[in-house]
Amino acid sequence: MVPKDTSITIIGAGIGGLTCAISLQNLGYQIKVFERADQLTEIGAGLTIPPNARKAIQYLGFEKQVIEASYKPAKAAIKDYYSGDTLKEIDINPSGNNKVQENDNYSPIYGTLQIHRADFQSILLKEVLKNDPNSIFLNHEFTNFSINNGSLVCHFKDNKSYNTDALIACDGNKSLVRESINGNDKLNYLGYVAWRGLISSSDIPSNLIQPDTATFIGKNKIFARYKIRSGKIINYVGFSKKNDWEDESWTVRSSINELLSEFSDSTDEIVSLIKKTQTNQCFKWALAGREPIKKWSVNNITLLGDAAHPMLPFLGQGAAMAIEDSVILSRLFLNEDNIKDAFKKYEQNRINRTTMVMHGAELNGLKLSGSDYTNFIKDKNIYTEEEVAEYNPVEAAL
Ligand SMILES: Cc1cc2nc3c(=O)[nH]c(=O)nc-3n(C[C@H](O)[C@H](O)[C@H](O)COP(=O)(O)OP(=O)(O)OC[C@H]3O[C@@H](n4cnc5c(N)ncnc54)[C@H](O)[C@@H]3O)c2cc1C
Repeated sequence: MVPKDTSITIIGAGIGGLTCAISLQNLGYQIKVFERADQLTEIGAGLTIPPNARKAIQYLGFEKQVIEASYKPAKAAIKDYYSGDTLKEIDINPSGNNKVQENDNYSPIYGTLQIHRADFQSILLKEVLKNDPNSIFLNHEFTNFSINNGSLVCHFKDNKSYNTDALIACDGNKSLVRESINGNDKLNYLGYVAWRGLISSSDIPSNLIQPDTATFIGKNKIFARYKIRSGKIINYVGFSKKNDWEDESWTVRSSINELLSEFSDSTDEIVSLIKKTQTNQCFKWALAGREPIKKWSVNNITLLGDAAHPMLPFLGQGAAMAIEDSVILSRLFLNEDNIKDAFKKYEQNRINRTTMVMHGAELNGLKLSGSDYTNFIKDKNIYTEEEVAEYNPVEAAL
């Protein structure tokens, strides 16, 4: 086991940083998490938690809280974006009561949960603080690291710096640490713009949104909607092929009119949903692909989550990969006797899996919005969510 008195610094208190902190705190390590924001808030959006991530969450000990805060649809459908016709429908929860059943398993088809991101983050935060109330340092913007007399030092804005035995960078898709290990990313703007919004379910007649969860696919367009917060809120995200926007930030405001002009070629259902979007709950961002990197770890420094494998959203697996990373890393802390070996083996273990999911997400986006989209069921090159969700990070070979 990596010695228990190893001091560990995590940069970033997003889903990756907080989950990683829990996974190592569970083994008895003292963790410091540095976050640049002055308070922890999450964007108003939904998050799907696929079975591969659920298995990890169960292992980490907070599955009960996540299940309680999650919504489970009875059925999910894939529909034609232009006609509204159902292309595929599956029963997800035969009991139909939108609660996760006690005997619910992690089956790739039935095991996915839907949760508000803010609720998920608050569960993670509570766990981290329960383990160690002094582990999170807000208002700490990491700038760089240096090696002084063989010791690793992390530097922050306002001339703060701290020595550490190990650095785990969970600083998101624009990670400074990834840049210092691998150089600048080459961004490949896919020519898609994404919009997201929230709607109060009570504003929409229930017969209009059948079934509970649906993804609409069509040439140049994808639109997905699902419920969160006991079904009281409908979360949606729409993608349209467009070349005139290149801001990757998730917090640029858009407007209902802009959404309507983009998605008015769809069905009444989508148009009605957009019209009911809550004021100030409508945002847009450009989707940029990045090539998988070959190096995550250098000595006692490594990357985790979007910092290591920023990916497109077309498999709903970005956060799930960060959660898987955390479990594999903590298992390697148990198996290896020093940080350097644990980080090296973690990189070797995770690169193939995350590269496959990165490529799969990009390919799915292109195929589900390609001209042959109605044939997606027969397309052997589609990465189904079920295939990706079969993986179990708790039992995977190390
Ligand atoms: C709209 C949307 C929907 C999504 N839906 C899903 C889904 O359904 N399922 C799924 O699995 N994934 C989903 N994803 C992807 C998922 O949200 C990301 O993969 C996940 O949030 C990555 O977590 P992270 O902690 O690695 O990075 P982030 O969430 O980006 O967190 C990085 C943290 O680091 C902090 N930070 C950055 N730089 C510094 C610095 N220099 N110093 C200190 N702190 C710093 C940031 O403030 C932030 O708190 C979705 C993404 C989007 C945009």
